[in-house]
Amino acid sequence: MERGVYTVILDHTVSRKYAKAYEFMNLSIQQAYLGSQVYPGFNVGSVLVLDDVVISTGYSNETGEHNHATQCVFEKLDNLTLARGASLYNTIEPCSYKLYDNDTSCTKRIIDAGISTVYIGVKEPETFSKCEGVNQLLDSGIDVYCLKMLEEACLEPNRHFLNRRYI
Ligand SMILES: [Zn+2]
Repeated sequence: MERGVYTVILDHTVSRKYAKAYEFMNLSIQQAYLGSQVYPGFNVGSVLVLDDVVISTGYSNETGEHNHATQCVFEKLDNLTLARGASLYNTIEPCSYKLYDNDTSCTKRIIDAGISTVYIGVKEPETFSKCEGVNQLLDSGIDVYCLKMLEEACLEPNRHFLNRRYI
């Protein structure tokens, strides 16, 4: 299998594709704010898009305590086959190992669902664990784009603990 390509987008105004991505990532950021501002755990937003139409949304803990945003996106779909070939917009890199309950990682869910492209705002800060999400997606032939100009906006829903030191 051909490895996916990792692209950092620095200017979203250079193409319609990037402008659309910027728009959908902003929707994802809005989702992140719907999560509880409670430590521990990141407040992540996630939006699933097929043919420029949002087909599912999710935020941290939406469908149950400790459920990740990406997990919620898939759980809210009537039929998982709808996700095949879709693009996923995650404010933060999807997890490669689910720390809390050793449940299926979001990255594995993305790969299994047949998602074609993943957009992130920022790679996961190493607050809790070393995340291999982007690498695993690329290894599975999925292209990953990082919307660098939205990095701060994607981290902002987590300021309640990123600015502090927990030991
Ligand atoms: Zn996850």
